[in-house]
Amino acid sequence: MALVIYDFSKCTGAGECADACPVDILDTSKNERWCKPVNDEVSNKDVLQKYLDEVEPNDASTLILKFDMPSCIGCGACVNVCPEDALEVES
Ligand code: SF4
Ligand code: SF4
Repeated sequence: MALVIYDFSKCTGAGECADACPVDILDTSKNERWCKPVNDEVSNKDVLQKYLDEVEPNDASTLILKFDMPSCIGCGACVNVCPEDALEVES
């Protein structure tokens, strides 16, 4: 179990983090404006819903959301490739 923390004031949605994740639990939004965990991999559904309601429909957001990710192995690959320092992982 780990927390994957996205700062949506910084994310550009290019998807480098999703490409780097070895267990494929990150994804880009359909409009490619954001990146986020794969829906089924998030255990705190209230936070996922907040993302779906308040981040994904908009072009800009200042939310910082902490997604509970039971399948995350805490490798840090997503953090290391992010050019915007928009990601943190807490194991
Ligand atoms: S690597 Fe960083 S800026 Fe790029 S999509 Fe992921 S969180 Fe957003
Ligand atoms: S820490 Fe590793 S396993 Fe967890 S989301 Fe990032 S790249 Fe994926």
